[in-house]
Amino acid sequence: MRLESLAVRAGAEPDPATGAIAPPLHLSTTFRHGPAGERVGGYEYAREGNPNVSQLEAGIAALEGGAAALAFSSGMAATDALFSALPPDSHVLIPRDVYHGVRVLGREFLARQGITLEAVDVTDAAAVEAALKPNTRCIWIETPSNPQLQIADIAACAEIAHRAGALLAVDSTFATPCLQQPLALGASVVMHSTTKYFGGHSDVMGGALVFAQASGLHEAIAHARHVRGAVLAPFNAWMTLRGLRSLPARMAWHCRNARAVAEFLSAHTHVEAVHWPGLAAHRNHAIAARQMRDFGGMLSVRIRGGRAAALAFAGKLRLFTNATSLGGCESLIEHRASVEGPQPISPDNLLRVSVGVEHPDDLVDDLRQALA
Ligand SMILES: *Cc1c(COP(=O)(O)O)cnc(C)c1O
Repeated sequence: MRLESLAVRAGAEPDPATGAIAPPLHLSTTFRHGPAGERVGGYEYAREGNPNVSQLEAGIAALEGGAAALAFSSGMAATDALFSALPPDSHVLIPRDVYHGVRVLGREFLARQGITLEAVDVTDAAAVEAALKPNTRCIWIETPSNPQLQIADIAACAEIAHRAGALLAVDSTFATPCLQQPLALGASVVMHSTTKYFGGHSDVMGGALVFAQASGLHEAIAHARHVRGAVLAPFNAWMTLRGLRSLPARMAWHCRNARAVAEFLSAHTHVEAVHWPGLAAHRNHAIAARQMRDFGGMLSVRIRGGRAAALAFAGKLRLFTNATSLGGCESLIEHRASVEGPQPISPDNLLRVSVGVEHPDDLVDDLRQALA
C-alpha cells in the first residue's frame, strides 16, 4: 500500500468491541490479571504498556518501514533513551548543525554517564570517516538539520557506521516518513520528535524511536523506558495517531508552500541566503533530491543587515507568528541565536521558518510587506 493510504489505517483497526472507527482512549493505569499475575489482555501497568501507545507505535513503524517503534514523552526523551542505551565508554558523532537540545544533553548529562558526543561535519563523508574512534558506537545525523537545513547522505553514513560496527541513528523530524525513509537507506534507528509534524497542530508533545530490526537494542530500550518511566501519556498517543492520519496530506501542502516561500525569499534583494534543500542553489541539493521525495516545510533565511535587520523583519510579520517549534498548521518564525543560550551557533541574521498550510500567496504577501 502507498504511504498516503497506509497513514489512514496504520496501527488501529475499528474497535472490535464497539465498531468505533476512532480508537477508544484507554486511561486505565492498571489492567486485570490472574491471581499469580497472569496476563489477561496483554497489558499490565501503564508504565510498561498501553493500548493507545501500542497503536501509535505500530502506526509509526509502518510508515517508516521499521520492525518496531517505541514512543516517548518527548523527542528529547527518545533521544536520551537511545544514547543512554550505549555502553558507558561510548563515543558518538553528532552533526555540527544539530538540534540545540542534543548538544546540551551531551554536555550536561551524557558526559557524566561516560558518553562523549563529538560534533563533526556530517555533510562530508570523509570527515565522518576521519572522526571515527575505536569506541565510536553511534553516528547520529539529523537531516535536514535544524536550523540550517544541511543534508547528510544517509546511505553513505550508514555504510561508514556499519563498517565501524556502529549504529547509524537519524533524526528525521524535519522530513517525516513521507519525505524520506532512512531505514531503507541503511539506518539502524530513526528518531522523531512527534511534537512536530506527526502531531501537526502544535498541541501534543511526544517522541519516537523506530528500529530497523526488533533486536536486543529495541528490547533494552523498551525495558529502560519501563523502568525509567519516560512514557507517553495515552491521550498524547491518541492525539499523535490522529495527526498521523493526515500527515501525508499535510506534508504535501507544507512542501508546496515552502517552495513558494523559498523562491520568493531567494529572489529578494534584502535576503542574503535561503536554506531550503529544494533550491538548486542549496549546497546538498543533489543528495536531497536523491534521498527525499520532496523537500519539506522547514527553511531558514539570512537577512542582509545582520541581527537588527533580521529582528526588525520578524517583528513586522503578521501571518507568521514569532514562536519556537515547528510542524503545525500555522506558519512560525524564530530567531534561533536568541534562544540558543549563552553560546549560540546559529548565525545572528538567521531566522528559522516553519511554513504552515495557509494559502501560499498570503504567506508571500506577508513576507513582502515585512521586507519592504
Ligand atoms: C523539536 C526537535 C527535537 C526535540 O523534540 P522535543 O519533542 O521538543 O523533545 C529534536 N530534533 C529536532 C530536529 C527537533 O526539531
